[in-house]
Amino acid sequence: MTTTPRRTPVPGTAPDHPQHPPATAPSHPSPALPHSSARAALVTTAHALAARGLVHGRTGNVSLRTTDGSILITPTGTELGAVAPEDLSVIDADGAHLDGPPPSKEAFLHAAMLRARPDARAVVHTHSPHAAAVSCLDGLDPDDALPPLTAYYAMRVGRLPLLPYFAPGDVRLAGPAEEQARTHAALLLRHHGPVVAAPGLDAALEAVEELEQTARIFLLLRGTEHARLSAEQRAALAPRLPSPVALFSALAIKKALDDVVLEAFTSATGIDVDGVYEPTNVLLEQIAGGARPDVMVGVTSGLAKLADAGVLDRASLRPLARVGIGVAVPPGAPAVDISSTGALVRALTSARSVAYSRTGASGVAFAALLDRLGIAAEVNSRATVVDKGFTALAVTDGRADLAVQQVSELRFVPDARVVGAFPEEVQHYTDLSIALGAHARDHPGAHALLRHLTAAPAHAAYRAAGLEDPSR
Ligand code: ZN
Repeated sequence: MTTTPRRTPVPGTAPDHPQHPPATAPSHPSPALPHSSARAALVTTAHALAARGLVHGRTGNVSLRTTDGSILITPTGTELGAVAPEDLSVIDADGAHLDGPPPSKEAFLHAAMLRARPDARAVVHTHSPHAAAVSCLDGLDPDDALPPLTAYYAMRVGRLPLLPYFAPGDVRLAGPAEEQARTHAALLLRHHGPVVAAPGLDAALEAVEELEQTARIFLLLRGTEHARLSAEQRAALAPRLPSPVALFSALAIKKALDDVVLEAFTSATGIDVDGVYEPTNVLLEQIAGGARPDVMVGVTSGLAKLADAGVLDRASLRPLARVGIGVAVPPGAPAVDISSTGALVRALTSARSVAYSRTGASGVAFAALLDRLGIAAEVNSRATVVDKGFTALAVTDGRADLAVQQVSELRFVPDARVVGAFPEEVQHYTDLSIALGAHARDHPGAHALLRHLTAAPAHAAYRAAGLEDPSR
Protein backbone atom coordinates (compact mmCIF):
# COMPACT_ATOMS: atom_id res chain seq x y z
CA MET A 1 0.00 0.00 0.00
CA THR A 2 1.44 3.34 -0.96
CA THR A 3 -1.55 5.64 -0.55
CA THR A 4 -0.61 9.15 0.48
CA PRO A 5 -2.03 9.96 3.90
CA ARG A 6 -4.59 12.75 3.64
CA ARG A 7 -5.72 14.89 6.50
CA THR A 8 -8.75 16.43 4.83
CA PRO A 9 -11.54 14.21 3.60
CA VAL A 10 -12.90 14.66 0.13
CA PRO A 11 -15.86 17.06 -0.16
CA GLY A 12 -19.11 15.20 -0.46
CA THR A 13 -18.41 12.95 2.47
CA ALA A 14 -19.11 15.75 4.96
CA PRO A 15 -22.06 15.18 7.25
CA ASP A 16 -23.89 18.41 6.39
CA HIS A 17 -25.43 16.93 3.28
CA PRO A 18 -25.84 13.25 3.89
CA GLN A 19 -29.26 13.19 2.25
CA HIS A 20 -28.01 14.34 -1.15
CA PRO A 21 -28.03 11.80 -3.94
CA PRO A 22 -24.62 10.20 -4.52
CA ALA A 23 -22.29 11.75 -7.08
CA THR A 24 -22.24 8.54 -9.05
CA ALA A 25 -25.51 6.80 -9.75
CA PRO A 26 -25.98 3.78 -7.50
CA SER A 27 -26.11 0.61 -9.52
CA HIS A 28 -27.70 -2.60 -8.32
CA PRO A 29 -26.71 -5.27 -10.81
CA SER A 30 -28.47 -7.94 -8.82
CA PRO A 31 -27.07 -11.23 -10.17
CA ALA A 32 -23.35 -10.52 -9.76
CA LEU A 33 -22.60 -7.74 -7.28
CA PRO A 34 -18.88 -7.05 -7.17
CA HIS A 35 -17.24 -8.55 -4.08
CA SER A 36 -20.27 -10.71 -3.31
CA SER A 37 -18.41 -12.87 -0.79
CA ALA A 38 -16.85 -9.84 0.94
CA ARG A 39 -20.33 -8.26 1.15
CA ALA A 40 -21.72 -11.43 2.70
CA ALA A 41 -18.89 -11.53 5.26
CA LEU A 42 -19.42 -7.87 6.19
CA VAL A 43 -23.15 -8.38 6.63
CA THR A 44 -22.50 -11.39 8.89
CA THR A 45 -20.38 -9.14 11.12
CA ALA A 46 -22.98 -6.34 11.13
CA HIS A 47 -25.68 -8.80 12.19
CA ALA A 48 -23.41 -10.24 14.90
CA LEU A 49 -22.80 -6.74 16.32
CA ALA A 50 -26.56 -6.25 16.61
CA ALA A 51 -27.20 -9.75 17.98
CA ARG A 52 -24.55 -9.25 20.68
CA GLY A 53 -26.03 -5.94 21.78
CA LEU A 54 -22.95 -3.96 20.77
CA VAL A 55 -24.97 -1.50 18.65
CA HIS A 56 -28.42 0.00 19.13
CA GLY A 57 -30.86 1.88 16.90
CA ARG A 58 -29.12 3.11 13.78
CA THR A 59 -25.71 3.43 15.41
CA GLY A 60 -22.53 1.62 14.56
CA ASN A 61 -20.87 0.93 11.23
CA VAL A 62 -18.65 -1.68 9.65
CA SER A 63 -16.25 -1.44 6.72
CA LEU A 64 -14.07 -3.84 4.77
CA ARG A 65 -11.25 -3.15 2.33
CA THR A 66 -11.71 -5.36 -0.73
CA THR A 67 -9.15 -6.93 -3.03
CA ASP A 68 -9.30 -3.98 -5.48
CA GLY A 69 -8.62 -1.43 -2.71
CA SER A 70 -12.15 -0.01 -2.59
CA ILE A 71 -13.94 -0.08 0.77
CA LEU A 72 -17.35 -1.61 1.42
CA ILE A 73 -19.20 0.16 4.25
CA THR A 74 -22.62 0.09 5.85
CA PRO A 75 -24.85 2.90 4.54
CA THR A 76 -26.02 5.93 6.49
CA GLY A 77 -29.09 5.63 8.71
CA THR A 78 -29.19 1.86 8.71
CA GLU A 79 -29.89 -0.72 11.40
CA LEU A 80 -26.92 -3.07 11.38
CA GLY A 81 -29.14 -6.01 12.35
CA ALA A 82 -31.16 -5.63 9.14
CA VAL A 83 -28.51 -4.65 6.58
CA ALA A 84 -28.30 -6.77 3.40
CA PRO A 85 -25.37 -7.33 0.99
CA GLU A 86 -26.94 -5.17 -1.74
CA ASP A 87 -27.41 -2.27 0.72
CA LEU A 88 -23.70 -1.63 1.16
CA SER A 89 -21.96 1.53 -0.02
CA VAL A 90 -18.61 1.61 -1.77
CA ILE A 91 -16.05 4.32 -0.98
CA ASP A 92 -12.45 4.85 -2.00
CA ALA A 93 -9.37 5.10 0.22
CA ASP A 94 -10.02 8.82 0.74
CA GLY A 95 -13.61 8.21 1.83
CA ALA A 96 -15.17 9.46 -1.43
CA HIS A 97 -18.43 7.78 -2.40
CA LEU A 98 -18.07 5.45 -5.40
CA ASP A 99 -21.20 3.33 -5.58
CA GLY A 100 -24.32 2.15 -3.80
CA PRO A 101 -26.40 4.17 -1.34
CA PRO A 102 -24.86 7.09 0.62
CA PRO A 103 -22.28 5.71 3.06
CA SER A 104 -22.29 6.10 6.83
CA LYS A 105 -21.60 9.66 8.01
CA GLU A 106 -18.56 8.16 9.72
CA ALA A 107 -17.13 6.73 6.47
CA PHE A 108 -14.28 9.24 6.63
CA LEU A 109 -13.22 7.72 9.97
CA HIS A 110 -13.12 4.19 8.50
CA ALA A 111 -11.13 5.43 5.49
CA ALA A 112 -8.67 7.19 7.85
CA MET A 113 -8.18 4.02 9.93
CA LEU A 114 -7.60 1.90 6.83
CA ARG A 115 -5.15 4.43 5.33
CA ALA A 116 -3.19 4.40 8.57
CA ARG A 117 -3.12 0.61 8.82
CA PRO A 118 -2.16 -1.10 5.56
CA ASP A 119 -2.36 -4.51 7.30
CA ALA A 120 -5.95 -3.96 8.36
CA ARG A 121 -8.94 -4.83 6.20
CA ALA A 122 -11.85 -4.38 8.58
CA VAL A 123 -13.01 -1.49 10.78
CA VAL A 124 -15.84 -1.61 13.31
CA HIS A 125 -17.23 1.42 15.17
CA THR A 126 -19.89 1.27 17.88
CA HIS A 127 -21.48 3.36 20.61
CA SER A 128 -21.52 0.35 22.97
CA PRO A 129 -22.64 1.56 26.39
CA HIS A 130 -19.76 0.67 28.72
CA ALA A 131 -17.07 1.87 26.32
CA ALA A 132 -19.11 5.04 25.70
CA ALA A 133 -19.41 5.50 29.49
CA VAL A 134 -15.64 5.25 29.88
CA SER A 135 -15.20 7.79 27.07
CA CYS A 136 -17.06 10.34 29.26
CA LEU A 137 -14.97 9.82 32.43
CA ASP A 138 -12.62 12.47 33.73
CA GLY A 139 -9.06 11.65 34.64
CA LEU A 140 -8.38 9.05 31.92
CA ASP A 141 -4.86 8.58 30.60
CA PRO A 142 -5.26 9.89 27.00
CA ASP A 143 -2.58 7.46 25.80
CA ASP A 144 -4.06 4.46 27.57
CA ALA A 145 -7.72 5.10 28.29
CA LEU A 146 -8.57 1.58 29.37
CA PRO A 147 -5.94 -0.18 31.49
CA PRO A 148 -4.80 -3.75 30.81
CA LEU A 149 -7.08 -5.57 33.23
CA THR A 150 -7.40 -8.91 31.44
CA ALA A 151 -5.21 -11.00 29.17
CA TYR A 152 -7.77 -11.09 26.35
CA TYR A 153 -7.99 -7.32 26.30
CA ALA A 154 -4.19 -7.11 26.00
CA MET A 155 -4.30 -9.71 23.22
CA ARG A 156 -7.21 -8.40 21.14
CA VAL A 157 -7.11 -4.66 21.73
CA GLY A 158 -3.70 -3.61 23.05
CA ARG A 159 -3.35 0.04 24.00
CA LEU A 160 -6.33 2.40 23.59
CA PRO A 161 -5.68 6.13 23.04
CA LEU A 162 -8.48 8.60 23.82
CA LEU A 163 -9.25 11.07 21.02
CA PRO A 164 -10.66 14.54 21.78
CA TYR A 165 -14.35 15.26 21.26
CA PHE A 166 -15.72 16.03 17.81
CA ALA A 167 -19.41 16.25 16.93
CA PRO A 168 -20.69 13.12 15.11
CA GLY A 169 -19.68 13.26 11.46
CA ASP A 170 -17.17 16.12 11.98
CA VAL A 171 -14.53 15.27 9.41
CA ARG A 172 -11.84 17.09 11.41
CA LEU A 173 -11.65 13.86 13.45
CA ALA A 174 -9.99 12.17 10.44
CA GLY A 175 -6.58 13.78 11.04
CA PRO A 176 -6.06 12.82 14.71
CA ALA A 177 -7.66 9.39 14.09
CA GLU A 178 -5.31 8.62 11.19
CA GLU A 179 -2.32 9.81 13.21
CA GLN A 180 -3.13 7.63 16.25
CA ALA A 181 -4.19 4.65 14.16
CA ARG A 182 -0.68 4.35 12.70
CA THR A 183 0.46 2.97 16.07
CA HIS A 184 -2.84 1.77 17.61
CA ALA A 185 -5.45 -0.60 16.20
CA ALA A 186 -8.20 0.65 18.55
CA LEU A 187 -9.18 4.21 19.46
CA LEU A 188 -11.71 5.60 21.92
CA LEU A 189 -13.59 8.72 20.76
CA ARG A 190 -14.40 11.13 23.62
CA HIS A 191 -18.16 11.21 24.47
CA HIS A 192 -18.78 8.77 21.64
CA GLY A 193 -17.42 5.22 21.46
CA PRO A 194 -14.68 2.90 20.20
CA VAL A 195 -13.36 2.31 16.67
CA VAL A 196 -11.26 -0.76 15.94
CA ALA A 197 -9.24 -1.84 12.90
CA ALA A 198 -8.18 -5.47 12.41
CA PRO A 199 -6.75 -7.77 9.75
CA GLY A 200 -10.21 -9.29 9.24
CA LEU A 201 -13.84 -8.92 10.25
CA ASP A 202 -13.77 -11.68 12.87
CA ALA A 203 -10.87 -10.07 14.72
CA ALA A 204 -12.50 -6.61 14.54
CA LEU A 205 -15.71 -7.99 16.02
CA GLU A 206 -13.82 -9.83 18.77
CA ALA A 207 -11.77 -6.73 19.59
CA VAL A 208 -14.76 -4.41 19.87
CA GLU A 209 -16.58 -6.96 22.02
CA GLU A 210 -13.55 -7.46 24.26
CA LEU A 211 -13.18 -3.69 24.54
CA GLU A 212 -16.81 -3.36 25.64
CA GLN A 213 -16.47 -6.12 28.25
CA THR A 214 -13.22 -4.66 29.58
CA ALA A 215 -14.88 -1.23 29.84
CA ARG A 216 -17.58 -2.91 31.90
CA ILE A 217 -15.00 -4.58 34.16
CA PHE A 218 -13.17 -1.26 34.49
CA LEU A 219 -16.38 0.44 35.63
CA LEU A 220 -17.11 -2.42 38.08
CA LEU A 221 -13.64 -2.01 39.59
CA ARG A 222 -13.81 1.77 39.96
CA GLY A 223 -13.03 2.81 43.51
CA THR A 224 -11.67 -0.64 44.42
CA GLU A 225 -8.14 -1.83 45.06
CA HIS A 226 -7.17 -3.93 42.04
CA ALA A 227 -4.13 -4.96 40.06
CA ARG A 228 -3.34 -4.56 36.38
CA LEU A 229 -1.20 -6.62 34.03
CA SER A 230 2.46 -5.72 34.21
CA ALA A 231 4.21 -4.11 31.25
CA GLU A 232 5.98 -7.43 30.55
CA GLN A 233 2.77 -9.45 30.73
CA ARG A 234 1.11 -6.95 28.43
CA ALA A 235 3.94 -6.91 25.90
CA ALA A 236 3.95 -10.71 25.70
CA LEU A 237 0.27 -10.64 24.71
CA ALA A 238 0.36 -7.75 22.22
CA PRO A 239 -1.81 -8.38 19.13
CA ARG A 240 0.10 -10.07 16.32
CA LEU A 241 -0.61 -10.23 12.63
CA PRO A 242 -1.76 -13.65 11.46
CA SER A 243 0.88 -15.35 9.29
CA PRO A 244 -0.03 -15.88 5.65
CA VAL A 245 -0.77 -19.36 4.35
CA ALA A 246 0.99 -20.83 1.32
CA LEU A 247 -1.62 -22.62 -0.80
CA PHE A 248 -0.65 -24.86 -3.71
CA SER A 249 -3.65 -25.62 -5.87
CA ALA A 250 -4.44 -27.44 -9.07
CA LEU A 251 -5.92 -25.23 -11.79
CA ALA A 252 -9.29 -26.98 -11.79
CA ILE A 253 -10.34 -25.20 -8.63
CA LYS A 254 -8.70 -21.82 -9.22
CA LYS A 255 -11.79 -20.09 -10.57
CA ALA A 256 -13.90 -20.96 -7.53
CA LEU A 257 -11.09 -19.89 -5.19
CA ASP A 258 -10.50 -16.62 -7.04
CA ASP A 259 -14.13 -15.68 -7.52
CA VAL A 260 -15.53 -16.44 -4.10
CA VAL A 261 -13.80 -18.70 -1.64
CA LEU A 262 -10.53 -16.94 -0.80
CA GLU A 263 -11.99 -13.44 -0.58
CA ALA A 264 -14.52 -14.71 1.96
CA PHE A 265 -11.73 -16.39 3.94
CA THR A 266 -9.40 -13.40 4.04
CA SER A 267 -12.23 -10.92 4.74
CA ALA A 268 -13.31 -12.87 7.80
CA THR A 269 -9.99 -14.06 9.19
CA GLY A 270 -7.55 -11.43 7.96
CA ILE A 271 -5.24 -14.25 6.89
CA ASP A 272 -3.58 -13.68 3.53
CA VAL A 273 -3.32 -16.63 1.19
CA ASP A 274 -0.28 -16.85 -1.07
CA GLY A 275 -1.68 -19.00 -3.85
CA VAL A 276 0.34 -20.96 -6.39
CA TYR A 277 -1.91 -22.35 -9.16
CA GLU A 278 -0.45 -24.89 -11.55
CA PRO A 279 -1.31 -28.32 -12.89
CA THR A 280 -0.69 -30.91 -10.16
CA ASN A 281 2.34 -32.26 -12.08
CA VAL A 282 3.98 -28.84 -12.02
CA LEU A 283 3.24 -28.48 -8.30
CA LEU A 284 4.85 -31.88 -7.71
CA GLU A 285 7.98 -30.70 -9.55
CA GLN A 286 8.12 -27.55 -7.42
CA ILE A 287 7.83 -29.68 -4.27
CA ALA A 288 10.58 -31.99 -5.54
CA GLY A 289 12.66 -28.81 -5.87
CA GLY A 290 12.11 -27.98 -2.21
CA ALA A 291 8.93 -25.84 -2.17
CA ARG A 292 6.54 -26.62 0.68
CA PRO A 293 2.81 -25.75 0.76
CA ASP A 294 0.94 -25.15 4.03
CA VAL A 295 -2.22 -26.39 2.31
CA MET A 296 -2.38 -28.28 -0.96
CA VAL A 297 -5.22 -29.11 -3.35
CA GLY A 298 -4.40 -31.44 -6.23
CA VAL A 299 -5.01 -34.71 -7.99
CA THR A 300 -5.63 -37.39 -5.34
CA SER A 301 -2.92 -39.81 -6.51
CA GLY A 302 -0.31 -37.05 -6.36
CA LEU A 303 -1.31 -36.01 -2.86
CA ALA A 304 -1.26 -39.60 -1.63
CA LYS A 305 2.36 -39.91 -2.82
CA LEU A 306 3.28 -36.69 -1.04
CA ALA A 307 1.68 -38.00 2.16
CA ASP A 308 3.73 -41.22 1.78
CA ALA A 309 6.85 -39.11 1.37
CA GLY A 310 6.05 -37.16 4.54
CA VAL A 311 5.56 -33.85 2.71
CA LEU A 312 1.84 -33.73 3.47
CA ASP A 313 0.07 -34.57 6.71
CA ARG A 314 -1.70 -37.88 6.07
CA ALA A 315 -4.26 -37.42 8.86
CA SER A 316 -5.61 -34.28 7.17
CA LEU A 317 -5.77 -35.77 3.64
CA ARG A 318 -9.35 -36.00 2.36
CA PRO A 319 -11.27 -35.99 -0.94
CA LEU A 320 -12.41 -32.51 -1.98
CA ALA A 321 -14.11 -32.66 -5.38
CA ARG A 322 -14.03 -34.35 -8.76
CA VAL A 323 -14.19 -32.91 -12.20
CA GLY A 324 -15.34 -34.52 -15.43
CA ILE A 325 -14.73 -33.75 -19.09
CA GLY A 326 -17.23 -31.63 -21.00
CA VAL A 327 -17.90 -29.73 -24.18
CA ALA A 328 -18.07 -26.02 -25.01
CA VAL A 329 -19.28 -24.33 -28.20
CA PRO A 330 -18.78 -20.78 -29.53
CA PRO A 331 -20.71 -17.93 -27.89
CA GLY A 332 -24.27 -17.82 -29.22
CA ALA A 333 -23.97 -21.20 -30.98
CA PRO A 334 -26.75 -23.73 -30.37
CA ALA A 335 -25.93 -26.42 -27.79
CA VAL A 336 -24.93 -29.75 -29.30
CA ASP A 337 -26.52 -32.97 -28.09
CA ILE A 338 -24.06 -34.96 -25.93
CA SER A 339 -26.67 -36.75 -23.84
CA SER A 340 -25.58 -40.24 -24.94
CA THR A 341 -22.44 -41.85 -26.32
CA GLY A 342 -24.04 -42.02 -29.78
CA ALA A 343 -24.94 -38.32 -29.65
CA LEU A 344 -21.43 -37.43 -28.49
CA VAL A 345 -19.90 -39.42 -31.38
CA ARG A 346 -22.17 -37.59 -33.86
CA ALA A 347 -21.25 -34.21 -32.33
CA LEU A 348 -17.51 -34.97 -32.50
CA THR A 349 -17.55 -36.35 -36.05
CA SER A 350 -19.78 -33.63 -37.49
CA ALA A 351 -17.74 -30.77 -35.98
CA ARG A 352 -15.64 -28.71 -38.36
CA SER A 353 -12.82 -28.94 -35.80
CA VAL A 354 -12.61 -30.24 -32.22
CA ALA A 355 -10.17 -28.45 -29.88
CA TYR A 356 -8.49 -30.50 -27.20
CA SER A 357 -5.27 -30.55 -25.27
CA ARG A 358 -2.90 -33.47 -25.71
CA THR A 359 -0.86 -32.93 -22.55
CA GLY A 360 -3.46 -32.19 -19.90
CA ALA A 361 -5.11 -34.99 -17.92
CA SER A 362 -8.36 -34.52 -19.80
CA GLY A 363 -6.57 -34.53 -23.17
CA VAL A 364 -4.87 -37.85 -22.50
CA ALA A 365 -8.15 -39.43 -21.43
CA PHE A 366 -9.96 -37.93 -24.42
CA ALA A 367 -7.38 -39.22 -26.92
CA ALA A 368 -7.81 -42.69 -25.45
CA LEU A 369 -11.59 -42.36 -25.68
CA LEU A 370 -11.39 -41.39 -29.38
CA ASP A 371 -9.44 -44.60 -30.01
CA ARG A 372 -11.97 -46.66 -28.07
CA LEU A 373 -14.87 -45.13 -30.00
CA GLY A 374 -13.06 -45.80 -33.30
CA ILE A 375 -13.20 -42.14 -34.42
CA ALA A 376 -9.62 -41.10 -33.63
CA ALA A 377 -8.49 -40.77 -37.25
CA GLU A 378 -11.61 -38.91 -38.32
CA VAL A 379 -11.57 -36.39 -35.42
CA ASN A 380 -7.78 -35.94 -35.40
CA SER A 381 -7.64 -35.21 -39.14
CA ARG A 382 -9.14 -31.80 -38.45
CA ALA A 383 -8.65 -31.34 -34.68
CA THR A 384 -7.24 -28.16 -33.16
CA VAL A 385 -4.66 -29.44 -30.71
CA VAL A 386 -3.97 -26.93 -27.98
CA ASP A 387 -0.52 -27.32 -26.48
CA LYS A 388 -1.21 -25.88 -23.08
CA GLY A 389 -3.99 -23.83 -21.53
CA PHE A 390 -7.67 -23.46 -22.21
CA THR A 391 -9.14 -25.25 -25.22
CA ALA A 392 -12.32 -23.14 -25.06
CA LEU A 393 -10.30 -20.19 -26.38
CA ALA A 394 -10.26 -22.02 -29.71
CA VAL A 395 -14.07 -21.80 -29.99
CA THR A 396 -14.09 -18.09 -29.15
CA ASP A 397 -11.51 -17.19 -31.82
CA GLY A 398 -12.98 -19.39 -34.55
CA ARG A 399 -10.26 -22.09 -34.75
CA ALA A 400 -12.71 -24.78 -33.68
CA ASP A 401 -16.45 -25.21 -33.20
CA LEU A 402 -16.24 -27.71 -30.33
CA ALA A 403 -13.88 -27.63 -27.33
CA VAL A 404 -13.22 -30.58 -25.02
CA GLN A 405 -11.62 -30.21 -21.58
CA GLN A 406 -12.42 -30.50 -17.89
CA VAL A 407 -15.66 -28.61 -17.26
CA SER A 408 -14.00 -26.35 -14.70
CA GLU A 409 -11.36 -25.33 -17.26
CA LEU A 410 -13.97 -24.71 -19.96
CA ARG A 411 -15.63 -22.31 -17.51
CA PHE A 412 -12.45 -20.27 -17.30
CA VAL A 413 -13.25 -18.79 -20.71
CA PRO A 414 -16.26 -16.60 -19.97
CA ASP A 415 -17.36 -16.18 -23.61
CA ALA A 416 -17.48 -19.86 -24.42
CA ARG A 417 -20.78 -21.66 -23.98
CA VAL A 418 -20.34 -24.74 -21.79
CA VAL A 419 -22.80 -27.37 -23.03
CA GLY A 420 -22.25 -29.88 -20.24
CA ALA A 421 -20.36 -32.98 -19.21
CA PHE A 422 -19.79 -36.22 -21.15
CA PRO A 423 -22.31 -39.02 -20.62
CA GLU A 424 -21.47 -41.16 -17.59
CA GLU A 425 -20.44 -44.29 -19.56
CA VAL A 426 -17.59 -42.44 -21.32
CA GLN A 427 -16.85 -39.93 -18.58
CA HIS A 428 -13.38 -39.66 -17.07
CA TYR A 429 -13.23 -38.07 -13.65
CA THR A 430 -10.21 -36.46 -12.06
CA ASP A 431 -10.39 -36.73 -8.27
CA LEU A 432 -9.04 -33.83 -6.23
CA SER A 433 -8.02 -34.00 -2.59
CA ILE A 434 -6.79 -31.56 0.02
CA ALA A 435 -4.22 -31.85 2.81
CA LEU A 436 -2.10 -29.82 5.19
CA GLY A 437 1.63 -29.61 4.70
CA ALA A 438 3.37 -31.86 7.24
CA HIS A 439 5.28 -28.85 8.58
CA ALA A 440 2.03 -26.86 8.93
CA ARG A 441 0.39 -29.04 11.61
CA ASP A 442 0.94 -26.23 14.13
CA HIS A 443 0.04 -23.37 11.77
CA PRO A 444 -3.39 -22.09 12.91
CA GLY A 445 -3.93 -20.25 9.61
CA ALA A 446 -3.37 -23.46 7.63
CA HIS A 447 -5.96 -25.30 9.72
CA ALA A 448 -8.38 -22.39 9.31
CA LEU A 449 -7.91 -22.44 5.52
CA LEU A 450 -8.38 -26.23 5.36
CA ARG A 451 -11.65 -25.89 7.32
CA HIS A 452 -12.80 -23.08 5.06
CA LEU A 453 -11.99 -24.95 1.83
CA THR A 454 -13.89 -28.04 3.00
CA ALA A 455 -16.98 -26.25 4.39
CA ALA A 456 -20.39 -26.16 2.69
CA PRO A 457 -20.11 -22.64 1.15
CA ALA A 458 -16.82 -23.62 -0.52
CA HIS A 459 -18.43 -26.75 -1.97
CA ALA A 460 -21.25 -24.62 -3.38
CA ALA A 461 -18.62 -22.45 -5.10
CA TYR A 462 -16.85 -25.54 -6.52
CA ARG A 463 -20.15 -26.78 -7.99
CA ALA A 464 -20.80 -23.34 -9.53
CA ALA A 465 -17.35 -23.54 -11.15
CA GLY A 466 -18.14 -26.90 -12.80
CA LEU A 467 -16.76 -29.34 -10.23
CA GLU A 468 -18.72 -32.11 -8.56
CA ASP A 469 -18.74 -33.39 -5.01
CA PRO A 470 -16.20 -36.16 -4.40
CA SER A 471 -17.39 -39.68 -5.16
CA ARG A 472 -17.12 -40.89 -1.57
ZN1 ZN B 1 -20.41 7.02 15.98
